[in-house]
Amino acid sequence: MNDAKTDKQLRLYVGLVASGGFLCLLWAGISVTAVSPGKLLYLATLTVIIAAANGPLIVLRIRSESRSFSSTSGAILIAAATVPLPWVILCTAVGVLASKIFLRDKLKITFNVAKDTMAATAGATVAYLLHVRPDADLSLTVPSVPRLVAGLALAAVAYAIVDDLLGNTVMALATRTSWLQAARRNWDVVVTVRVINVGLAVLIALVVAQEELLIVAMVPAVFALQFATKNQIRQRADQEAWARLASSTDRLNVTELTSVLHAAVTRAPGLFSADEAEVELRDLRPPQLVRGSAGRVGYEGPAETAPARAGSFIEAPLEGPDAEAAGVLRLHFRKPVKLSDSEHNKLRIFASSLYTAIRNARAYAELTRISAENAYAAAHDPLTGLANRRELLEQATEIFRARKADGMCAMLLIDLNHFKEVNDTLGHGAGDEVLREVANRLEASASPGDLVARLGGDEFAVLFTGLPAPAVATHRAEAMLADLERNIVVDGMQLTVEAAGGIAMAPASGGVQELMRRADVAMYQAKRSGQRTAVYAHARDTADVGRLMLGGELSRAVAEHEFVVDFQPIVDLGSGEVISAEALARWHHPEHGSLSPMQFLETVERSGQLPAFADAVLEQSLTAYRMWREAGFDLPVAVNVSPRSLLDETFPSAVLSRLAGHGVAADRLVLELAETLTLSQLEVVDRALSELRNAGVRLALDDFGTGVSSLSVLSRVPVHQLKIDREFVTAVETSSEAAAVIRSTVDLARSLHLTVVAEGVESEPQRHALWELGCVAGQGHLFARPMSSGRLLASLQRGSGGRPGALADVLHNAGSVVRMPHRRSPGHGRSALPHLPA
Ligand code: C2E
Ligand code: CA
Ligand code: CA
Repeated sequence: MNDAKTDKQLRLYVGLVASGGFLCLLWAGISVTAVSPGKLLYLATLTVIIAAANGPLIVLRIRSESRSFSSTSGAILIAAATVPLPWVILCTAVGVLASKIFLRDKLKITFNVAKDTMAATAGATVAYLLHVRPDADLSLTVPSVPRLVAGLALAAVAYAIVDDLLGNTVMALATRTSWLQAARRNWDVVVTVRVINVGLAVLIALVVAQEELLIVAMVPAVFALQFATKNQIRQRADQEAWARLASSTDRLNVTELTSVLHAAVTRAPGLFSADEAEVELRDLRPPQLVRGSAGRVGYEGPAETAPARAGSFIEAPLEGPDAEAAGVLRLHFRKPVKLSDSEHNKLRIFASSLYTAIRNARAYAELTRISAENAYAAAHDPLTGLANRRELLEQATEIFRARKADGMCAMLLIDLNHFKEVNDTLGHGAGDEVLREVANRLEASASPGDLVARLGGDEFAVLFTGLPAPAVATHRAEAMLADLERNIVVDGMQLTVEAAGGIAMAPASGGVQELMRRADVAMYQAKRSGQRTAVYAHARDTADVGRLMLGGELSRAVAEHEFVVDFQPIVDLGSGEVISAEALARWHHPEHGSLSPMQFLETVERSGQLPAFADAVLEQSLTAYRMWREAGFDLPVAVNVSPRSLLDETFPSAVLSRLAGHGVAADRLVLELAETLTLSQLEVVDRALSELRNAGVRLALDDFGTGVSSLSVLSRVPVHQLKIDREFVTAVETSSEAAAVIRSTVDLARSLHLTVVAEGVESEPQRHALWELGCVAGQGHLFARPMSSGRLLASLQRGSGGRPGALADVLHNAGSVVRMPHRRSPGHGRSALPHLPA
């Protein structure tokens, strides 16, 4: 309902009441009879008492409207008991008018005079009908006490009915509340006042019946009584108001800021009889505002866009003793309103409780945020945002505990190959980027329900859940690792990341720790075998040596000469004669026995012991070379070089000084280089290699064909030899692709004047096929396994078929083999190299 409509209704209503009052007065004016001058004093005093009693006993404000309770009815009852009906009406009208005349609101004066006149008419009429009132001549005839009490009580009821009807209606109209609501408000106060009024009126009527002039003495008595009652009522009302304030501030004690603000703006209107209340938080950017009326939130949002409010408002700052104001609490009133001192106090107290509640809620929110942040940080890897080891273990434990029937769980443990190289050659920034990209790819290829985690360094893990069969884990792991092998571009450079993955199915017992251990074992099996993934197999587990525990023993291994070197002969495939030998390192571990390079190399490379290790291998290789030479076998020795050694600037001079120390010509040493990132990217490597090459050292490219950028490596690193990886040799008879790779490699080597060595020759048919493809040198179990230098010497001396220096017979009908022509059709050119991008 809008204000204009309310006002119109209100005026119409007041007009109606005024007409009623006027009619009553008119009748009184016509019916009044003259009185003796002696009686005039009595009537005047009565009028004064009515005026005094009409002063507000207590004022209650409802929204912008005040309502006062008075003891008017008491004074009017005295009149009804002591003067004729028309005089009662006239005295009431004059008395009420006198008490209200100073009000500014003419509507209010009119209404009050008319209302009280009508109510007095009703009350006095009842008294008249019950013969309480005196004769028309104003001579007092006192009725019996019971009649007086009963009469005045009923007169009071009549008065109250008219008074309430008229008063509550105007209240309901003005405050836009329901009539019943207006009537119920403070009904107990109202009834108490009325009962007291009846008692008072009876008493005074009896006194005045004894001596008429005693009415004058009643004036101070009425004032005193008025005053006493007023205080009592005010105290009580005050107490109630404080109690309501206390319960309202209690409601503010919630932890959530929105709830605090909602409680404040929906409770404050009732508490301060305001139309609306709002809280504006000015310390927020932009300032926020919450507005509400009793029991309802009306607006919530930026203060700027809040609908404007007409009328008046009263503000209280939201501030503490120590800090700047956080904002304001504002009460809206449709009409100008003045708060009492006590109301101002309450508002201040409410505002300061609200401020405290806001601060508490904010502190609570901050605490919650910090603890959430801490929880996140404790569970996540800051670099990649993946779950960390702890989180993985916790989640896995949780999943195990609540083991659901649908599907199996498996752990995939991933370790990047040669990641340290990326860090060392390209810097940690690039390393971080690679790790982030790896994390992204793993996340992208994971299925919903999988948990991807970074365990630290270059180790990742994926927990698979809900697997229908163990084979699915392998399949998914393969796909994930294959996805990692796509080029990663860092700083404009294309890198390839390879990784080894170990898969373990959730064990029946042993829990997560056992699962992790098994995945770790499987991962090292994958690394060792050069495969992408390996599945944990119990049979192989017992033989396994944890690699990390080896780390601490490296310095002892170097000091105690536990690293030894075996030699595998490299043979002319046609004649079977040994043409050189490859040095292959072994660790004679006091507990674990002989360990292969695959089991310890990575640990050595990651440790600070690599130069000492490389030195030991070179030293033993040159010693062996000299021993063979002295026995008449001048076999160049091939030594494997870790990519990380090439980053060491002192490496070339260390090699050259060893050669000089042993008096060995540089061209008797072959350094086998794996084609890795290091080879293709770095100037320091280029310098090291050209220094060695210029000194006469021969260079071989190991595992040729398996790397991604073989040709680009070849164009940068001027090597003398290519070693065809075992992968192709193994498949040479069965796979036309493998044969094509070998053929193109041979072709390439021929045009670049390089020699070619095939690795892992295990059978005569392989030897034959290689020979057919144009490959003239090879090594492998067919000829000899790696062995000590002394045993190799003995084998050489023993020879094969009576030929010292040979380890195999001359190739069966080698002469009849039709060797490939040097130039072939374009179809067999470079494009036949599937692994070698042009
Ligand atoms: P690689 O350079 O490719 O060495 C050849 C590997 O194949 C050796 O394994 C050798 O024992 C094995 N092998 C030789 N013939 C056959 C065969 O007919 N069939 C099969 N199945 N395998 C054969 P090993 O000794 O375990 O060495 C593994 C790798 O460790 C080497 O691969 C090399 O990259 C690295 N390595 C070995 N010694 C050293 C070293 O002293 N320094 C460095 N930096 N790396 C080394
Ligand atoms: Ca090698
Ligand atoms: Ca190799």
